[in-house]
Amino acid sequence: MEQVLEDITKEYKDKTALRNVSATLHSGQLIGLIGKNGAGKTTLLKLISTILKPTSGRILLDGQDIVKMPNVMRSVVGYLPQEVSAYPNLTMLEYLSYMASVKGVKRKDAENQISSLLAAFHLQDAESKRMGNCSGGMKQRAGIICALLGDPQILIIDEPTTGLDPEERVAVRNILSRLSKERIVILSTHIVSDIEAVASRILLLQQGSLVFNDSPEELIARAKGCVWEYTLPSLQEDRKGISSMVQTERGIHIRQVSREKPEEQAVPVKSTLEDACLFVMEGYGRKRYRL
Ligand code: ADP
Repeated sequence: MEQVLEDITKEYKDKTALRNVSATLHSGQLIGLIGKNGAGKTTLLKLISTILKPTSGRILLDGQDIVKMPNVMRSVVGYLPQEVSAYPNLTMLEYLSYMASVKGVKRKDAENQISSLLAAFHLQDAESKRMGNCSGGMKQRAGIICALLGDPQILIIDEPTTGLDPEERVAVRNILSRLSKERIVILSTHIVSDIEAVASRILLLQQGSLVFNDSPEELIARAKGCVWEYTLPSLQEDRKGISSMVQTERGIHIRQVSREKPEEQAVPVKSTLEDACLFVMEGYGRKRYRL
């Protein structure tokens, strides 16, 4: 399966949320969609799942315009929104059965899918638990099961790790990585470290523009030799590209992305994905991304 975003622009009344975004997504990819709050991530996810229509541009699924076939798309896409609106009084099994019927999955199919997904997500023991008594991680996994009912080929997850403890975060990331083998999985977040280990492709949005679309390795390579650390007694002015500042006994320890050595005593350090995102968002190392 291939989904092509062709020069997408989305305008709300008085705001351009996305500007001329083009990209091609394939099955087998786990796509990390990164951007600060307000960058346009949710808008892009809603366009991909036909909840919204683009103001201009086209989205093609295996060559067909999805705006013209929203009903087909709804069976192809599983969307897990930021908030899993749980029904606190329903048991997990009741909740999932209800959601399956809302999605139009036939009863027998729903029973089979729910029982195998509960097993895959290690939730068999929680099926009689009321949703209101489930932990954040259990609700999250139930939400992903919900998105997977009907076996969608495109799985969209908006900010998946909020409210999860570190162990649950790793578990959810591993599950998503497995699921991406035969699907397009898009995972949206503003926390870069959440997707560092699992994404095979990074889309970086900044103020509605796609400023990076390639592998995490390529992103890190862009910032190679441009990440520095140094200590100053104090720092009065604002500096561009600072990725962290820590107060130490010797002064302020600064990590900064910059093409030039920012201070005489600055030493180059290895770039992380987070440094590299900042580097590109500061306007360095960009290419123009088209199809
Ligand atoms: P993100 O998910 O990256 O935080 P969004 O897609 O939610 O970004 O928002 C992108 C921009 O569009 C923001 O400036 C936001 O305020 C604006 N926006 C989002 N939804 C609407 C709407 N329904 N009406 C007007 N502006 C909106």
